[in-house]
Formats: sequence, C-alpha cells, structure tokens
Amino acid sequence: MLIQFKRWITLFTCTFLFASCDQPPPLHHETFFILGTLVEFTIADTPEPTAQAAILAAKDEMQRIHTRFATNHSEGETAIFNQLPAHRPFLFSSEEQQLILQAQLLQSQSQQAFQITLGALDQLWGLSQSPMRSTPPSESSIQQLLPDIDCLEPLANQQWQKRVASCQLDFGGIAKGYAIDQGIKMLKAHGIANAIINAGGDMRIIGTKHGTPWKIGIRHPRNATKTIAAVDLSGDVSIVTSGDYERFFIYNDRRYHHILDPKTGYPSDRAQSTTVIADNATLADGWSTALFVLGKEGLPIVEKYGMAALLIDHDGHLYQNQRMDSMLKTAQHPPSLSQQ
Ligand code: AMP
Ligand code: MG
Repeated sequence: MLIQFKRWITLFTCTFLFASCDQPPPLHHETFFILGTLVEFTIADTPEPTAQAAILAAKDEMQRIHTRFATNHSEGETAIFNQLPAHRPFLFSSEEQQLILQAQLLQSQSQQAFQITLGALDQLWGLSQSPMRSTPPSESSIQQLLPDIDCLEPLANQQWQKRVASCQLDFGGIAKGYAIDQGIKMLKAHGIANAIINAGGDMRIIGTKHGTPWKIGIRHPRNATKTIAAVDLSGDVSIVTSGDYERFFIYNDRRYHHILDPKTGYPSDRAQSTTVIADNATLADGWSTALFVLGKEGLPIVEKYGMAALLIDHDGHLYQNQRMDSMLKTAQHPPSLSQQ
C-alpha cells in the first residue's frame, strides 16, 4: 500500500525546455524494490556504464542501511537492542550512534514530537506490519505505553540502555532519508553530478537535468493523480513528504494512520501531509514526520532551523513557511476539504 500511494509523488520531466535541435543524451533510469518501497534512480549527462555501476553501488548501500536499521532484520543492531532487557548497556556501531544522536537532536528541537523510541506504540497500532490492523487498539493499552515512550538512556563510552524492557527503537521516520543520503554519497563517489534518488516520493536531487532544474511535483493527499504544488530544485537538496494516506485504516469513519503523536499515543490529527525541503534527506525525512505531529504551529520551528516546509492540515488547508513561499509554484488544484 505504501508503494501504491507514495510513488504517485511524481517527477516531472521538462523536455519542452530543450528548444534547440540538439537532443540531450537520454536519462538513465533504474527502479528497484528496496527499503520496502520502489526506489527510482535517475542519472543525467553520464555515460551508460558509469551510470549503471553507480546505480548498483547506491542500491547495495541503501539495502545495507535497510538491513541495519529495520526492526525486522535480526542481524541488525536495532533489532538486537530491541530484544534486550532493561538496564543492559549496549554499544552501538558508529553509524547507529550517529543516527541516534541526530534523532535525539530532532526530538528536542521538535518539542518531543519526533521520537525514535516509540517502537512499542508503533507495534501496538500495527500499521507498519503486514497485514495491518483494521481496528484501533484499546485505550488502556495505549495509556500503558505512554509513560515509557522516551526510554533511551545514554551511558558512558557511547553506550545506551533501555529504561524499561518494553523500550523499542523505530527508525521508520528517518532511516529512509538516511539511506537516500548514503545512496547519493555512493553516486557522487562514482563521479555522478546530476541525479535523483526517489524512494517512494522521498528524494534527494543533485545537479541539474541537462542544465535546467529538476521539476518536482508534490502530490495531493486525497487525490493521487493530482499535485498541489511544483518546485524547481537543483544543486544538492532533498524533498520529503509524510502523509496520512501511506498506511492507514478507516474505523467508524475515522482515519487511523502510521504517524503517531508521542504525547497522546494516537495518530496525529493535525495534518494530511507535510513536505520538507532540506540540505539532506535525513533532515527532510525526520522533519517531515515531526512537522506532521506538530501541525501548522511547527512551520516556524522548521523555518528557524533553515528548512522550507509545507503542510496540508486536517481540513485540507495548505500552509507554508516563508522559505517555502519563495520556492513554490502553487498548482492549479487546491487541496479538497475532505476530512478523511
Ligand atoms: P514517515 O513516513 O517518514 O513520516 O515515517 C513514519 C514512520 O515513522 C512510522 O511508520 C513509524 O515507524 C515512525 N513514526 C511514527 N510516528 C513517529 C514519531 N512521532 N516520531 C518518529 N517516528 C515516528
Ligand atoms: Mg519521515
């Protein structure tokens, strides 16, 4: 379902910009199923063998990260840590350390909206699993977990421990962005200067498409065939969207989705979708999730940390911060007022 919905964030080509008779060299496209979604690699202005080798290296790197950070890969440190009892010191490798530290910074900058320690709550809601739950968990089971959400304790010598045994790490809100960043790093190491990695709609862009910016559409949260806005991006930048349409069920006319408010234990009802543009995909991914929980009051916070952001609220109204104002070309189709 995730793939079905997220891949509708479209990457528009702008072939009409090439008025001259010289045909630009073709783009290289490859799509793989990794990170639980379709990941599309697009490379411009590069000889075919170089592009192919770079894409394969980037794909392998992204798969490696998925194995390390996914909770269901038993050989990964995340899964191993999740099975430990309380107060057992655990030394993470430096890669895990770095992402945990980034997530913890984001947690404090976002006023605790972002929490990588809500794995138990995520499992309770069952929206990351297959098959997904189709009814909400009981109020008492949610309340039982709430006091122990913020449960990761730093120790000396870069070790960590759980405060309670139920503490579960969940990198679902940030690991895809990190994987995209590592994929781009791999492309650059192979000499690629113009490319996009698009992981189910979450993207990082480098360079240009034959000298003109890449044109990126942001999908309408209630109509996968429509875009709400388009933005021209070039250089080295990332754009990530979080949406309540990715994984959800409807119960008693109410939508229950996979982005949880750590304060209430319920899916955040403050947005239908959020989009963040940042220097890298780790930041954009983490902040799009955090902003979803914060709602439109979070837009100035994202602005303060130097990122552009856009939010469609629960009622379908579009809000954006000042940085986004200057980047955005609002599309023809305003979001509908549908509340589901
Ligand atoms: P995203 O699609 O990037 O917004 O991430 C959603 C995923 O992040 C969920 O499937 C959970 O695994 C995890 N998640 C849900 N709520 C939060 C939250 N408040 N903070 C951090 N991660 C979360
Ligand atoms: Mg995210």
